[in-house]
Formats: sequence, C-alpha cells, structure tokens
Amino acid sequence: MSDAYQPLSTDAPRPALRIRLARPDVGEEELAAVSEVLNSGILTNGPATRGFEKAFAQRHQVQHAVAFANGTVALSAMYIGLGIGPGDEVIVPSLTFISTATSVLHVGATPIFADVDVDTFNVDSVDVCRKLGPRTRAVVAVHYGGQPADLAELRTITDEAGIHLLEDAAEAHGASYRGRPVGGHGTAGMFSFTPTKNITTGEGGMVTTDNGDLADHLRLLRNHGQTGQYRHEYLGWNWRLSELQSALGRSQMAKLEAILSRKRSNAVWLTERLAAIPGVRPPVVRPDRDHVYMLYTVLLDTDRDLVMQRLVADGIEARLYFPPAHRQPVFSSVSTSLPVTDDVSSRMLSLPFHSRLTTNELGVIADALESAVAAK
Ligand SMILES: *Cc1c(COP(=O)(O)O)cnc(C)c1O
Repeated sequence: MSDAYQPLSTDAPRPALRIRLARPDVGEEELAAVSEVLNSGILTNGPATRGFEKAFAQRHQVQHAVAFANGTVALSAMYIGLGIGPGDEVIVPSLTFISTATSVLHVGATPIFADVDVDTFNVDSVDVCRKLGPRTRAVVAVHYGGQPADLAELRTITDEAGIHLLEDAAEAHGASYRGRPVGGHGTAGMFSFTPTKNITTGEGGMVTTDNGDLADHLRLLRNHGQTGQYRHEYLGWNWRLSELQSALGRSQMAKLEAILSRKRSNAVWLTERLAAIPGVRPPVVRPDRDHVYMLYTVLLDTDRDLVMQRLVADGIEARLYFPPAHRQPVFSSVSTSLPVTDDVSSRMLSLPFHSRLTTNELGVIADALESAVAAK
C-alpha cells in the first residue's frame, strides 16, 4: 500500500513534497452540517451552538460548556466571570501562545510568568509557589502541545492558597489526566478551535465548568449582558460563535476520537523512529497523562534554527511553538528570570503532526530531521 513507509534511497529523485504543519480534517460531513444551518435560516444563537456545547461538555465530563468567538476572548470572559481584574495577579507560563498572557492584560489584571518543566514544557509547580503573592487570584495551567500539566499538584497549591486553578486547554481537546478529561480539574477550562488545533471551527473557543452560576454569567457576557430582549443587565460583548461554526464544531466532535487515535499511533511510530537519532529527544510523556499531540515537539542538542531552516528548505514546515511571551516586545517592561523557558525555547522544535499524515510522510519527516541534525 502507498501508505507503507519506504525509506528514501539516496540516489532516488527527491519527491516534490510539501508537508504542512496543519491540515484540518474537514470534508463532506462539515459541508453537509454547514448547508443544513444555511438552509435553516438561523445563523447565530441557535440549536447548533447548544448542540455543540452539549457534546463538548459531555466529552469533557463537565456540567457546562459555553461557546465563544475564539479562545482568546473565552479566556478574558473566564477572568471577568470570576471577578478577576485591576489589581489582581494571574500566574501563567511564558512558554505558551501569547494570548494566555495578553488575555489577563485585557481584563486589567497582571500576568506573572512562571517557569516550566524541562521534560513536559508544562508550568513548574515549584516556581508557581515562588510566584504566589497576596494579589494572586488564579494559576493558569497550559497543557502544552496537548499533554496535561500536573493538575493534582497545581490543585493542591491553589486550594491551599484559596485561589482558582484554571486550565488553558486550547491545545488539549479530549486529553486526560489520571483518567479524567481536561477542562474539569479546576474552576474552569478554555479550549480553542483555530485551524492548527486537533479540531477546528475556523475560529472558535469554549469555556468548560461545573459551576452553574459562572456558566450563566459567561452566557450573559458573550451576549451583551442581555437578560431579556434589549434588557442589558451587565456590561457584555458580542463574543458569540455563529451557528455555521457551531455546526462545524459538532461535526468535528464526531471525528475527535478517530483524529486522536490516528495521532496516538502516529506518535508511537515517530517516537520509536526518532529515539534512534542522537541529539534528538522525542516528547516525554508522563505515565498518568494522555497526550493528544496537537504538537509533536522534540528537543535538540544541535543548533535548532539551522535544523529548522534545513527542514523548511526540504519542504517540511517545522516551527518553534512558542517564542516565550516574556521575551515579546509587548511584555518588554516585565523583568523576570525563567532559565528553563529560555533554555528549552532555544532548543525545541515542533514537527508537522496533523492527523492526516501517512506513515510514509512521517518517515520523510524523520529522515529529513536525521540528515538535518547530522549535517555540519
Ligand atoms: C491557540 C491558543 C490560544 C488562543 O486561542 P484563539 O482561539 O486563537 O484565540 C490560547 N492559548 C493557547 C495555549 C493556544 O494554543
């Protein structure tokens, strides 16, 4: 079968390949779902959104899921819903997508950066304890690349401090920690559906929670604080997800298990192959967690930027996820020392790992990485 992995012989002509980082699994089912919405005439605030929320809450074993226009506003809504604002501090890792931190700024609170664990790239509990202060209201656990952070340890810390544990599960749909899905380990969790994530609605976000009052508040915040027709109880926004996107989301939920299982078996294959390459450390997965591999990130001993350039020149879209937030111009006034974040962000590299990669393509990626790290 064409899917079987064939090593490239050195004298074979180089295949014209372009392996993209992301390639969403969308097709006929999504087209049919979106057409159905268009035909129904209800384009926002309707049954598709409620259906998507219900399926999402069930899958993540929480009482409530509230859909948002994107993950970034979902994070801000979560803070506002919990009364986090000016004068408050929220502890976040720096090794994350920028909006984990900027969403805190958007509500007038201050993000405090904590360092990460060198193996999992998830926030380091010891450093979180160091960063706790009288103004700390919450700790955000980002599940880097789809591997849950150490939620039990973090929950012990936040419970003792009397503050909220929040999950930025933007990259971790369907992942679990000690048998329980992410999104329900703290006060609330956030998910994103941009096209690089494991499932997508083009743009979209979701907040999960077991707290009914918080869920009600979030629904008002996303819809102009409207409690009755043109009655505005609170300062709200228009942060709704459209019915077209929600219909996409429902179709994607039906595919989630298949997507995750392909990724898991691809990860087993690739990790075994990469383990044989000196200077390349494949992802380290803790035994009590289920990694869903939105990202497949290796740690290199050699010059990462050079390896990345070589892969890209080879048609393989490798990327750094993420240049640390505390090094971004937007946070230039923040001075903090995060030695592990600085070290790993100079050596880590995320390889293409979307759910439609064939074994043959995985082999091409592995071969290219092997020659890229070996070349002098
Ligand atoms: C994608 C992502 C977000 C932001 O989600 P958007 O839907 O793009 O706004 C936030 N945090 C993390 C860790 C992400 O990967």
